[in-house]
Amino acid sequence: MDPQIQNFVQSLHVAAQQAESLEQMLNNDANVSAFLKGNHYSEKALTATACEVLETILGKSEVDTQLVNQTAVNENWSQTCWELPTCILLPHNKNDVSLALQTIRFLKIQFAIRSGGHSPNPGWSSINKPGVLLDLQKLDEISVSEDKKVVSLGPGGRWGKVYEALDPHGLSVIGGRIPQVGVAGVILGGGFFHFSGEYGLAADNVKNFEVVLADGSIVIANAEENTDLFWALKGGGSNFGIVTKFDIFTIPVHDIWYQVSIYTADQANACIDAFTEWQLEGSSDLKSTVAMIIGLDTITVGLLYSTTTASPNVFEPFNKLTPAVVAVPATNGTVHSFTQILASTSSTDPMRHDYRGISSGVDAQLYKDVYATWKEKATAVHASTGANMTFVLQPIPAGLTQASKAKGGNPLGIPEKTHQWWTTLVDWADAKDDETVRSAPIATTDAWRQLSQERGLEVPYIFMNDASRDQNPIASYGQQNVQRLKTIASEYDPEQVFQKLQNGGFLLKNL
Ligand SMILES: Cc1cc2nc3c(=O)[nH]c(=O)nc-3n(C[C@H](O)[C@H](O)[C@H](O)COP(=O)(O)OP(=O)(O)OC[C@H]3O[C@@H](n4cnc5c(N)ncnc54)[C@H](O)[C@@H]3O)c2cc1C
Repeated sequence: MDPQIQNFVQSLHVAAQQAESLEQMLNNDANVSAFLKGNHYSEKALTATACEVLETILGKSEVDTQLVNQTAVNENWSQTCWELPTCILLPHNKNDVSLALQTIRFLKIQFAIRSGGHSPNPGWSSINKPGVLLDLQKLDEISVSEDKKVVSLGPGGRWGKVYEALDPHGLSVIGGRIPQVGVAGVILGGGFFHFSGEYGLAADNVKNFEVVLADGSIVIANAEENTDLFWALKGGGSNFGIVTKFDIFTIPVHDIWYQVSIYTADQANACIDAFTEWQLEGSSDLKSTVAMIIGLDTITVGLLYSTTTASPNVFEPFNKLTPAVVAVPATNGTVHSFTQILASTSSTDPMRHDYRGISSGVDAQLYKDVYATWKEKATAVHASTGANMTFVLQPIPAGLTQASKAKGGNPLGIPEKTHQWWTTLVDWADAKDDETVRSAPIATTDAWRQLSQERGLEVPYIFMNDASRDQNPIASYGQQNVQRLKTIASEYDPEQVFQKLQNGGFLLKNL
């Protein structure tokens, strides 16, 4: 009997019969023995053993080792993440997640965590080598507290369902804008919503994080307990633990005003002028926001106001434009109804995807010059590969950082001034075109960096939730915040399980 195996099995606190069969299985496995003695061993065989251990502990219904029809693998939104792990775990509760992490740590198995699966970065919520994919889709609780001040969300829920559940209560929450996107990834990267100018980011509105740490312990992080971890999780990504529940403060926003218009591509510069004029003069009215998605053929402009109203004066700059189509006439609707409208703005067909992000100061000429670069590259790439991509200016008023600070602050280092976060969603079909397609967004972020530096309009911050695989958003949080994040990570994960065994992600080890 190997004492390491005995200690491990005892620490799981499983039923006596389970413990006995686990001990037998591990003690009779020559590969496990070689691994524990530090001799040469097969990583593939060890990972298969870890999946067997997990099957014994959690039961066959929670561990998919067959992966026969690929449907579980193909649940990632982007085909760039359709990768084959050794097994997929479907934990039903935080204790299952804890048992899984303890097994992963004991046998030093590679792993990835998937909540909504909407990161298109290969290897972030997928794994293509011996390893375990922890899929949190069964942790999809949505429950509103009796006083309605807080909603508890499982990491595997989707934002559309969250707004739907809050709708009858006359409330909403700061979360993701597109209904299909997952709860956990959005919050752990910060989480930008239409009304973030008024209420801060999604992460700023978290009351409690329930977290499974690398050693399997389950802790709460909030403004009183584990306060460093609380701060770190508000945008520090998957570096600290697996979050199994988010308690989020609800916001009293339900009935809102919106209008959606479509313009033709030749109106792009006029739309940029109107957007900039509103940013400079109107966006300090934090109830107002603009969602502008520029495509190669059309431009979609959504105007939103966080209360019911007649058409707000603040959107006056857009009244100078004549839309090709008014897709949604000025309406007093709800957060839920607007979210449903947005469902169609992202591709749901199985395709390859990428996104990419960079920020800048506000300047119409800068926006137009980078748009010209993007248009030239995106047109050429579309002609040769069929890829579609967007050019999106996300308005960030100074109020956003003020709201974040008022709610306790976060590690993101976002400047307290009106600026914008550019992003793109890229859709294409064929893996052979990956590099060609990605070259257009890469050239666009290069142009943003160069032109904004030359013109004194540089904003170094990169939003994690828009960052592509080769970008390093956490490096943009500022040296002091990065150092503090590293200190917190080594305090809560001294063996560096999340740095060494996690397959991908924006990890602190890369800084
Ligand atoms: C169409 C579309 C619309 C979007 N809209 C918005 C938006 O409005 N606002 C916004 O802020 N972002 C938005 N995003 C970006 C989105 O926030 C990120 O893609 C995010 O990673 C998706 O979260 P997920 O849970 O679906 O992702 P996943 O792919 O499941 O996970 C993303 C990352 O988080 C880690 N992770 C997942 N769950 C956990 C957990 N429980 N504990 C620890 N780590 C975990 C994963 O390992 C992975 O590294 C959008 C993306 C798309 C594709």
